[in-house]
Amino acid sequence: MSKTAEILCVGTEILLGNITNTNATFLSQELSALGFNVFHHTVVGDNGGRLAEAVDHALARSDLVITTGGLGPTYDDLTKQTVAAALGLEMELHQDILDDLIARWERRGQVMPKNNEQQAWFPKGCTIIPNDWGTAPSCAIEKDGRTVIMLPGPPREMKNIWTRYVVPYLSQKQDEVLVSRYCRVVNIGESALEIRLYDLLKNSVNPTVAPYAGGGETMLRVTAKARTKEEAFAMTVPVVQAIADECGDDLYAVDRDSMEQVVSDLLRELGFTVSVCESITGGLIAGRITSLPGSSDLFECGFVTYSNRIKQAVAGVPAETLEQYTEISAETAAAMAEGTLARSGSSVALAVTGVAGPDDLPYAEAGTVYVGLAGPLGTRAYRLEMLRSRDRNYTRNLACVKALDALRRYLLEIKRG
Ligand code: ATP
Repeated sequence: MSKTAEILCVGTEILLGNITNTNATFLSQELSALGFNVFHHTVVGDNGGRLAEAVDHALARSDLVITTGGLGPTYDDLTKQTVAAALGLEMELHQDILDDLIARWERRGQVMPKNNEQQAWFPKGCTIIPNDWGTAPSCAIEKDGRTVIMLPGPPREMKNIWTRYVVPYLSQKQDEVLVSRYCRVVNIGESALEIRLYDLLKNSVNPTVAPYAGGGETMLRVTAKARTKEEAFAMTVPVVQAIADECGDDLYAVDRDSMEQVVSDLLRELGFTVSVCESITGGLIAGRITSLPGSSDLFECGFVTYSNRIKQAVAGVPAETLEQYTEISAETAAAMAEGTLARSGSSVALAVTGVAGPDDLPYAEAGTVYVGLAGPLGTRAYRLEMLRSRDRNYTRNLACVKALDALRRYLLEIKRG
């Protein structure tokens, strides 16, 4: 049976909302991947009494407790002594660690302040875990079938210790591993997808299938638990296949990060380059494609053409098209794509134009978006199916994902001949 784990983050600044608890997010994902059931997250301020209470609760209900924060040298860094007290352990000085700390200060030409000595005191019998990127070493204690691992607060230090030392330590203790695979779907909303995959979702025990929506797409996480990674992966295969059969081309990626990654892979596979002409998205599409390493091999240029004057001057949109159909039209999107293709010399061009809102234009409602594509299949332009919204950023981001998706489908058609 899987062990239970919980995360206890220490720090008043998290409670005050001054910082986001990214440590808990990271650790939850990591623990799940290692096969632990994470049942609780707790945040407690730098207060001895409340910390002691939180540690007692955690030890009473979880096999593994991971703490972050409170390992520093100041009076409010209380984690080690509080955990030691809860487990009935005394604290002891590790002279080698103290010598090392003193030497570090000396190397900087300084004398170590007295209170840093606290960082060399640990619960008796614990395993010290080095901190390559900070002064506060971590430690792990096992007692009465419970394990507590105390990590520093700064995420950079915490993640390094976790990956380098804690994962190997915990992996040995787990008899099961989890493998999660991510299926990314566009054009089918979360509830519609739930209805279409009802049997699969309802009966999913191992593997489990969980839907999440956001950023203009729906993601299905398929998680299998088994004795080995290979076995768990094999268990996910028929489930992922069932999702692919149901969603067809609306399933745009399995085990890949993003729409721009999928589009870039297709461009690369076809030996194509792309240029874009953006109105409503103001450079977001170019930004997403060029966020990937190696994008200069396939991305040639991006025009951000907001005024009609620039749509004509830069993208070559005929004045008559704008006059007859307005800038919010399939005809203008087509002309933007054709002009961009001709002027850039790229293999394909993608154009987008629309109304971000919040206000409607006299001739087009907020949320109206047209996409244009030009390339070896000729010119195509159509209105994107958008959810009605007056939120500019929502509309712009959705337009960006949907326009990239339109390019993906165009490229897929070329690939399939
Ligand atoms: P230090 O030696 O730096 O004092 P520490 O282990 O005592 O280390 P804290 O003082 O609790 O850690 O936190 C140090 C900094 O780390 C915080 O100011 C904050 O920027 C970051 N931090 C702490 N906890 C978290 C958390 N749960 N999520 C994200 N960042 C955090």
